[in-house]
Amino acid sequence: MKPLVDPRRIRCYNGTAVHRGPVLYWMHREFRAQDNWGLIHARDQALRLQVPLAVVFCLVPAFLGATLRQFDFLLKGLEGSVPALDQANIALILRSGDPSQEMMRCCHEVQPSLVVTDFDPLRIKRQWLQALLRDQAVPVHEVDSRNIVPAWIASPRREYMARTIRPKIHRMLPEMLGPFPKLPAHPHPWPAPPPSLSFADLRTALRVDTSVAPVKGLRPGEAGAREVLDTFLRQRLPRYDQRNDPNKGVCSGLSPYLHFGMIAAQSVVLELTHQGLRGDNVDSFIEELVVRRELSDNFCLYTADYDRIDGFPDWALRTLEQHRNDPRPYLYDQEGFDRAQTHDPLWNAAQRQLVDSGTIHGYMRMYWAKKILEWSPDAAEALRIAIFLNDRYALDGRETNGYTGIAWSIGGVHDRGWSERPIFGTIRYMNESGARRKFDVHRYIRTWSGHQPALVA
Ligand SMILES: Cc1cc2nc3c(=O)[nH]c(=O)nc-3n(C[C@H](O)[C@H](O)[C@H](O)COP(=O)(O)OP(=O)(O)OC[C@H]3O[C@@H](n4cnc5c(N)ncnc54)[C@H](O)[C@@H]3O)c2cc1C
Repeated sequence: MKPLVDPRRIRCYNGTAVHRGPVLYWMHREFRAQDNWGLIHARDQALRLQVPLAVVFCLVPAFLGATLRQFDFLLKGLEGSVPALDQANIALILRSGDPSQEMMRCCHEVQPSLVVTDFDPLRIKRQWLQALLRDQAVPVHEVDSRNIVPAWIASPRREYMARTIRPKIHRMLPEMLGPFPKLPAHPHPWPAPPPSLSFADLRTALRVDTSVAPVKGLRPGEAGAREVLDTFLRQRLPRYDQRNDPNKGVCSGLSPYLHFGMIAAQSVVLELTHQGLRGDNVDSFIEELVVRRELSDNFCLYTADYDRIDGFPDWALRTLEQHRNDPRPYLYDQEGFDRAQTHDPLWNAAQRQLVDSGTIHGYMRMYWAKKILEWSPDAAEALRIAIFLNDRYALDGRETNGYTGIAWSIGGVHDRGWSERPIFGTIRYMNESGARRKFDVHRYIRTWSGHQPALVA
């Protein structure tokens, strides 16, 4: 029987299954039941071994500065996938604590024949996987369900810029862009429900900052992602060429769903094809959704210091060092930025958009990060503050795109040198008059200055 998942998507550790315990799918990046290569592979393996299958989710009580906003989105979204898992006869095991420790405990309890898990290049996720592999002899399969062209296949090294990875991705897209098989009911259910916490238990176990409230008006989960995709394709994609105008609101709004894996980029591209959508706007959207997004995973996979200045290219480190002692016209600390108390109404509006809506428009995100560099004592501090704020308020934060976008803005990653200026050196500069040439900045400022930050305490 031909495997359902292309073996190039899978990295195998610890040999092959030697006994007939159940299969566990450890879900920590791709929170969806549909169109999920990891889950499809886990079910395929469980079918071959004729054993039950369970999804294991372990809630980390505190994670990379995430607040109630992000945890609420994640838990509600995952809860929305339960009926699809039930229908497919797949159990859900909920745990709370250190994920690698909990997975080890879970392995001791249920003696699985195989653990399947999500690929994620972030440092903490690599550490979780390494700890499990160190402690357990159980075979583990790591599946890249995030990238259409698996990150380790797209390129074996860190790419310089979009121009260098684009042809590699486009060359492989046709062969990797197959349709997802459905998830039929698994014929080997668990004889009795496996030990699991409830969603209410998980909420009680949370140890996070509750002062950043959930974002209103966004429906988390797979159903929410499909709704957002549907309205984007009908109403906004035809105007995607206006995407650099934050007042137009033509972008997809998919990034929180893509970040939590509530929808696969591959499903989005398949839907474009299914609807026969073509043209410049579709090409531009695919450039962002596929090439730029997969470039971010490439950067984090092959750059140990993706969130530190050591991850910047040498030319950028040199130029920033040469301008380290340049006088700063304005200096703010983390709190000044956080409270949107700079002298620049445009920057403050972007920060308020972040705090209030859980995102910043893509064009303003670049401006926002570059001004943090201009108004901080040095690049390392600017990088730290930008990551802190992005990860604290953005629904799509703690994401390879975020670390890469910030490193692009502050440290010239995937960019080239431009003309030399104070503080920035040859890092690309942005200013308010550039923004004014692109869109009505006063309208953007008005939109966001009247908003009350969504803080509950
Ligand atoms: C300083 C800075 C910080 C950023 N932080 C994040 C972050 O935390 N999380 C995040 O997902 N993106 C981040 N980005 C990338 C980009 O700004 C967002 O992905 C985009 O604005 C999300 O809105 P959208 O889904 O409506 O985008 P759309 O324009 O509709 O694009 C569709 C999808 O393509 C991908 N995409 C779009 N632009 C980029 C890009 N420049 N790089 C990589 N992928 C891209 C995203 O997955 C996005 O959801 C950041 C960019 C910068 C400059």
